[in-house]
Amino acid sequence: TIPYYDWITHHADRRPAGLAIHDLHTGRKLTYRQLDERARRLAAHLQTNGVGKTDRVALLAPNCPEYFELQFACGRIGSVMVPLNWRLTVPELTYILGDCAPKVLIHDSSFKAQAQALQAQCTIPHLLEIDIDRADSSYERAVMAASPAPTLVPLTHDDTSTIMYTSGTTGHPKGAIITHGMTFWNVVNLGIPAMISPATVQLVVLPLFHTGGLNCYANPVLHAGGAILIMRAFEPGAALDHICDEALGITHFFAVPAPYQFMMQHPKFQDADFSRLQMAGVGGAPCALAILEAWAARGVPLVQGYGMTETSPGTSMLDAADAIRKVGSAGKPFMHTELRIVDEAGRDVPRGAIGELWTRGPNITPGYWNNPDATRKAFVDGWLKTGDAARRDDEGFVYIVDRWKDMYISGGENVYPAEVENVIFQLPQVADAAVIGVPSDRWGEVGKAVIVIKPGETLSEPDVVTHCLARLAKFKVPQTVEFVEALPRNATGKVLKRELRTQFVGTSA
Ligand code: ATP
Ligand code: MG
Repeated sequence: TIPYYDWITHHADRRPAGLAIHDLHTGRKLTYRQLDERARRLAAHLQTNGVGKTDRVALLAPNCPEYFELQFACGRIGSVMVPLNWRLTVPELTYILGDCAPKVLIHDSSFKAQAQALQAQCTIPHLLEIDIDRADSSYERAVMAASPAPTLVPLTHDDTSTIMYTSGTTGHPKGAIITHGMTFWNVVNLGIPAMISPATVQLVVLPLFHTGGLNCYANPVLHAGGAILIMRAFEPGAALDHICDEALGITHFFAVPAPYQFMMQHPKFQDADFSRLQMAGVGGAPCALAILEAWAARGVPLVQGYGMTETSPGTSMLDAADAIRKVGSAGKPFMHTELRIVDEAGRDVPRGAIGELWTRGPNITPGYWNNPDATRKAFVDGWLKTGDAARRDDEGFVYIVDRWKDMYISGGENVYPAEVENVIFQLPQVADAAVIGVPSDRWGEVGKAVIVIKPGETLSEPDVVTHCLARLAKFKVPQTVEFVEALPRNATGKVLKRELRTQFVGTSA
């Protein structure tokens, strides 16, 4: 097995004054030397409190530099970071903390009440509080008082670095085991096609408890010795201001489709200066062509990638050079990752046909924490069954069709909601849209469109149906349309179709 080497130690030695992290919310900046030293001190503090190899340390906080202090502290002593989704309720977090049983819970002061309730319910030995305003928070005092020399624990690529719970888009979040090797191979896979270098300056808006926020491209950028700029929460106007700010010099940006959608609907979008942006990546959910086209028209070809928590997350990605020619594609597999598209019997489907995407490689999870049953179901001969429907064109480019679970069958024909949503997004009055299958006596299931109209616009059910009839086979056309104020989304920005199904069908199946 390959030993794990700490990247931050390397950069602290080579370029100690180089900027590693800039917290745009507080204005706080950390050089590589400071990040290295704070991670060492945190590691020593954790060790003093009995945290050893494989012990879990959970983190409940909005985006802040402490995510990386904890990650690189864990890399020194072999403990395991568990970043938590702060949008979850106490009962949901109780499920997760009961599952991973951390020795320490580090929390932001804004989650004090939740942290105390969780400590009592899950018997967590230690709490540490981060406070963005007060330098004398228990976290800060612990870090300042601890030795800068923890007892380093030698680790290999097979050791666990993180337990990352999946987005919970389709059900209970599952704890994906992330090893040091997985993160390393993701860095290698992404680094070259995403053009990441020591000169990279990346704006991070996705939550850092999610693999998209942590690994696209924050960890690859820190591995290269570049800088990451962190937003505590995404806001479209502020994000556009940051991207245009010459002094910040942002070169890289990655998000799920929703932030791109909200930015292009913002008044600042038309005149925004995107000239410094070298790479704008998108992935994590189906991206409507209307979004890709609006950004391309502003000179920013969005580079689509595909992945999931279990693949930490890089699975496939377009090359920037193909972003326009192959618009809508999620590219080809990364250098050190394989993928196949197979039928129900696990046989490769012919080119062009839709099947389930399976993937294999050193970036893929060994399994789910505490859940051998889910692990067994997820793998066949070392291949991870992603649960996503995809096809490849004759040049081998992958197109993600949709999740199998979101597909519905109307009159015996498979309908992938993402395709229908793409057509609905062409309507200029539409701000947001989702399609679900609902039961029908006649057809088995039929489509229902749920639409948010842009302020000041009007749109009727017949308008939507007529528009779709002109562009889609009849079985794909939604039979009913609901107009709503907003779509339910999870913290990552993905539409929660199971909530729409509960609301409009009365079942989340
Ligand atoms: P859960 O597994 O808990 O239901 P989740 O699958 O949303 O939640 P993630 O690991 O964050 O959790 O997301 C991975 C999923 O996101 C993929 O399986 C796929 O369905 C979707 N996805 C990722 N990239 C793309 C893409 N480029 N196009 C379409 N869908 C994508
Ligand atoms: Mg999933």
